[in-house]
Amino acid sequence: MVDQIADRGTEALSITGGEPLLRKELVLRILERFDGHPAVTTLNTSGWFVNMEMAKKLKEAGLQKVQISLDSYDPKTHDRFRGMKDSHTRAIRAVEYCVKMGLETLVRTTITPYNFDSMPEILNLILTKVSHGLVVKPLIPSGRGLQMDEPLTYEQHKRAIIDLIDMIRMDSRVSQEYVHFLSPCLPFLIDGDFAVNAEKCECGERLAFITSMGDVQPCGYTHHVLGNILEMPLSSIWTESRFLKNWQENRISGKCKSCGFVQTCEGESRAAAYETTPRLDVPDPMCWRREQH
Ligand code: SF4
Repeated sequence: MVDQIADRGTEALSITGGEPLLRKELVLRILERFDGHPAVTTLNTSGWFVNMEMAKKLKEAGLQKVQISLDSYDPKTHDRFRGMKDSHTRAIRAVEYCVKMGLETLVRTTITPYNFDSMPEILNLILTKVSHGLVVKPLIPSGRGLQMDEPLTYEQHKRAIIDLIDMIRMDSRVSQEYVHFLSPCLPFLIDGDFAVNAEKCECGERLAFITSMGDVQPCGYTHHVLGNILEMPLSSIWTESRFLKNWQENRISGKCKSCGFVQTCEGESRAAAYETTPRLDVPDPMCWRREQH
């Protein structure tokens, strides 16, 4: 699988889960096999299994970046959300170990109904732990996210983004580059300057997701399977899937086509649109303009 990914001239490889370090040896083998390839390698982890020794092994295996999940500045809230006591302590320690080991270390926070009003506190906490940045994204209503009692509302998402932008503007410790928004439209609308920190959704275009069973999907947030790499080469799955063709052709369609913000937004998360409708020619359910549709 790693060789097939490398052969396609891949620019970035992210190892994610669930919790990928439940299979530590496999993660290290993947990284070692990929080492020497020019692509950037990232590990997304809860940090539970990252002690100093593990951080060193990851670095030696060729890992460049790590993203550690943090759901709250408050240990009790984080632990309750994760379902494991001490998760918060271990996540914070993991940040410190990875920074010490010279890995580019980012904290990753999913904006949820439980933390939308405490973004400044989260940012404040990670600044004191010298993490190299914060990545924020809204909760995508897919998988277990669909089972949450309260979905994230548009207003909550907006409040989180406004609070972060206010803090970036007012706190001299936070540079604009420090916070990465994984939802392009809201930062752009609140202040156009922040569009440079916002990443467009590239799922199904420049990004493929491969599950632990070898299933290839356009995105980790949708469960539509394009094919399996144990049965077909990755390149054939990518070029021959009619579903993927449809996904790519409909990325900007329906109401997004005539939207003045389409260049910045490109319909935001296609997986969120597909998982909640299921259609491809509709805007992201978090679209700021949805009330006008
Ligand atoms: S209509 Fe589409 S392109 Fe416009 S803001 Fe909403 S999701 Fe983005």
